[in-house]
Amino acid sequence: MSGIAEVVATAEHPRPDDVAGSSGPHRTDAVDDAISALRAGEPVVLVDDTGRHPCGELVFAASLATTAAVSFAVRHTSGLLQVALSRQDADRLELPPISRDRSTPGAPEYGVAVDTAESTGTGISAADRARTIALLGDPTTAAEAFARPGHVLTYRAHDEGVLGRLDAGEAALDLVRLAGAGTGAARACLVSDADPTAVQRLPEARAWAHRHGLVAVTTSAVLAHRLVRGDRRAAAFQLTIRGTDFDVVRWRRGTAEITALVLGDDVGEPPIIHDECLHCLFDPDACRCRAELTATLRSIAERGRGLVLYRHRIALPDITSSLAERLVP
Ligand SMILES: [Zn+2]
Repeated sequence: MSGIAEVVATAEHPRPDDVAGSSGPHRTDAVDDAISALRAGEPVVLVDDTGRHPCGELVFAASLATTAAVSFAVRHTSGLLQVALSRQDADRLELPPISRDRSTPGAPEYGVAVDTAESTGTGISAADRARTIALLGDPTTAAEAFARPGHVLTYRAHDEGVLGRLDAGEAALDLVRLAGAGTGAARACLVSDADPTAVQRLPEARAWAHRHGLVAVTTSAVLAHRLVRGDRRAAAFQLTIRGTDFDVVRWRRGTAEITALVLGDDVGEPPIIHDECLHCLFDPDACRCRAELTATLRSIAERGRGLVLYRHRIALPDITSSLAERLVP
């Protein structure tokens, strides 16, 4: 499964209650702050507010990993450290998927776990893992640098980041790439202080980040940043909808197209997903989704920020293409 199918599978999941109602203070600079922190070798807190397992993650640039950073991560997270790499880099480092048979739609693609080949230790110590993680994030590392299997899990992220697959691993890697801090993002799930048997959700993760002087940012904010300020900016235009100027970005994933309506740099809430609807087009009075979309856009305009992803139907089968060619001037 790839491309839009993965975006669909993760984004369709219902918004968890603890994320939807906790937009927090409006900060337009959260993604910029996160990028600066990562570039300086500091960790940030990334909250996946769009995926199926929303949790607060500690993220840092793999290339800048230190024993102290890994030790800090081990103390506050599940201890299962993984490094997100693009599939292209994972293939270069000969880190194939653990399982070729991902039976759950939209399931993350984990790659084989590794240790640094030069280690004479167990591989699990903070010092050993810091060296392994740093090698994973260095674009000049060769596949022979690793022993397999090992103690650092790898995550094979979509090469286009959150624009290809909307998930925390892709968002973490996008942040590190935007920081120019190598080709890997180290990440681990934060354990709840309130309930050590659970992971941190958004409200706790934001407070935890604040207590530790770290920047907190959401997957949605990373997506909005890439859409409005990133490499798709050239493809964007403005559309005034009932008096509010939305940034509109369209992009294609596989055989499908997505139109994003973005207001504000830091959208603050998970994106609202709408699907193209033929009822709305030909029989608008018979359909509720047009009213829902109108209400969504109105509430985003009132808040001054938000993100709508409008998914166009998968391209028509080839049988109609010859007809389409005759119809399109
Ligand atoms: Zn409709």
